[in-house]
Amino acid sequence: MATPKTKRDFPLDRIRNIGIIAHIDAGKTTTTERILFYTGRTYKIGNIDEGTTTTDWMEQEKERGITIVSAAITTFWTPKGGPMAGQETRINLIDTPGHVDFTAEVERSLRVLDGGVIVLDAGSGVQSQTETVWRQANKYKVPLIAFANKMDVVGADFLGTIQSARDRLGANALPYNLPIGKENDFRGVIDLLTKKAFVWEDPSAGSGQANTGMIFTEIEIPADMVDLVNIHREKLVEEIVGTDDILMDQYLKGEEISVEDLKKTLRKAVIANIIVPVFAGSSLRNKGVQPVLDAVVELLPSPQDIGEIVGINPDTNEEEIRKCVPEAPLSAIAFKIQVDPHVGKLTYIRVYSGTLKSGSYAYNSTKKIKERIGRLVLMHANDREDIDEAYSGEIVAAIGLKDTITGNTICDEDNPLILESINFPEPVISLAIEPKTKSDQEKLGYALSRLSEEDPTFRVRTDQDTGQTIIAGMGELQLEVLVDRMKREFKVEANVGQPQVAYKETIQKEAEGEGKYIRQTGGRGQYGHCLLRIEPLPRGTGREYVSEIVGGTIPREYIPAIEKGIIEKEDTGILAGYPLTDIRVVVFDGSYHDVDSSELAFKIAGSLGLTEAAKKADLVLLEPIMKVEVTTPEEFLGDIIADISSKRAEIQSTEMRGNARVVIALVPLSEMGGYATAIRSMSQGRATYYMEADHYQEVPKSIEAKIIASSGFTGRVEH
Ligand code: GDP
Repeated sequence: MATPKTKRDFPLDRIRNIGIIAHIDAGKTTTTERILFYTGRTYKIGNIDEGTTTTDWMEQEKERGITIVSAAITTFWTPKGGPMAGQETRINLIDTPGHVDFTAEVERSLRVLDGGVIVLDAGSGVQSQTETVWRQANKYKVPLIAFANKMDVVGADFLGTIQSARDRLGANALPYNLPIGKENDFRGVIDLLTKKAFVWEDPSAGSGQANTGMIFTEIEIPADMVDLVNIHREKLVEEIVGTDDILMDQYLKGEEISVEDLKKTLRKAVIANIIVPVFAGSSLRNKGVQPVLDAVVELLPSPQDIGEIVGINPDTNEEEIRKCVPEAPLSAIAFKIQVDPHVGKLTYIRVYSGTLKSGSYAYNSTKKIKERIGRLVLMHANDREDIDEAYSGEIVAAIGLKDTITGNTICDEDNPLILESINFPEPVISLAIEPKTKSDQEKLGYALSRLSEEDPTFRVRTDQDTGQTIIAGMGELQLEVLVDRMKREFKVEANVGQPQVAYKETIQKEAEGEGKYIRQTGGRGQYGHCLLRIEPLPRGTGREYVSEIVGGTIPREYIPAIEKGIIEKEDTGILAGYPLTDIRVVVFDGSYHDVDSSELAFKIAGSLGLTEAAKKADLVLLEPIMKVEVTTPEEFLGDIIADISSKRAEIQSTEMRGNARVVIALVPLSEMGGYATAIRSMSQGRATYYMEADHYQEVPKSIEAKIIASSGFTGRVEH
């Protein structure tokens, strides 16, 4: 067990909360693994291809080789030279998923990290998924350094990769070091600022033992690289001094600027998102990773650089600021729930201000409940360490929280604050699950509630007509993984349907409806009555409710019941059984009965009122439209375009990327079934594609009729 690390060992400026960001297959898992190895917390270098890596501890992740879960791992690194030489720094590594189906996970982890290392594939340059993760990082203004991995592969091109980052991402990406050799001859890197060259050589060459990359030696800069080093150093220095007036002055006067000053200024430029330094390496070959670790410490921000956080005081609805210091009132955000096989439910928390204590009570201001923090632990790669307190700027896992879910704020009850919550995209695909037995039904309910705690983009509902459980998410892969976990971890036996497109319903004009539920025969009757108006909202707005009831026309306690009835009906759908969206419902009148009125009666009245109004409001179906990007060798371009054009696609552009052609199109999701197989056979397996949800759009009438017919709903004609 490691010696407990207290705050005194780790002043704020020696903490880094960072994420390794990459698209799938760029080498994030391998790089994370190497980092954990060099930082001394794992003892064996795993190989993703053999499924033995440390962060991918969930079974199906191992099988698929995808890092789905953003586990936070705490580790330590002490740079040997440079401005932070000899200073042990705590690195909290927040693993971010690379597959686009898991975008919400990426967003959630980006929200809590202070800096990131973006892994690029030097063999294939910047791809569309790299663009997506890069855009997301920019959205949260996460300072980045880049690691151009796979310098050992055939066709690896360090400067070309940087150029594509500049062209495609508009990033001010610049080499921080240069690779010595490439492909099979890739041996090491030359640091441009210090002009020091290092090579990673097999310490036991000839013995058959692998090079673990622990030993690297300084060499002279190879003679044929001296000019190149000078050219790129000059460029980097110019860019750095360009961000600082005083240095610029010195530079223009021809004075030598110290490496220390250059690094200090570069650090500021990285934190301000002005420069993205790029490092060369090959994780798989154990080369070039340590300079990246030094850079995490030297160039990426500490929580201290973030300074303060803004939230909303729920009592006053005013913005309030909390300084990122341990003495301030507690404010923290829960960013990940995970079920650990050994300790149960872990709630990963980023503390922004104040101190979180184990064995104490904390206030969940989002849910307005008190939660007991049983234990606080730092998760290392292969053990966990109990700590008593977690201070502002730190990331910890808490054990014992019952009702806190992802995105909730934890704070000091006397100083309540709600930190900006995280926005999640709407699911576009769903599938039906039918448990095999009654006991499976119970297990299913439990499994789904646990899984949706972990993943807020995943939704569960019950189909009112068939009684089936419907789960919905952002992509087939996400649902597949969830179903897999449900069966494996929660042992639910169930029949699982084919993934279905998540259509929606909406209205096109204003209409009014009356909901009357009155039963007055014998005994106690029922009396619920409301008048409501519905209005279309702009695409993507969602739903709104307004009550304009005044003067007790309907007693206040029944208003929530009416809203509940409306929401249930909106979830069930009216035209073809799909949820209603982009609609505002205004309840403006009604009546009640002293004795017979009840919540139930008003709930039914709300539902009836909405149904009546919706039928007069030109209901239509909406379908998810995907942004699809196909990368193909030139020779298959014609076939690919012809095929995609037959899918109701709107082709946005075709462009050259390296020697490949890239087609970007907007295509309805319903047309994309089986595309992975189709594209493979069209291109002898050489074209690839990638897609993400773009927006919802009206379904053409002829297709709408078919969907309504197959839904079993009678649609507009029903009365
Ligand atoms: P992730 O999907 O981003 O987590 O990527 P992985 O770490 O799983 O790597 C994807 C594939 O690329 C695996 O087969 C790795 O062995 C391989 N890979 C990772 N880094 C390198 C590298 O530096 N060189 C080479 N040649 N292959 C690599």
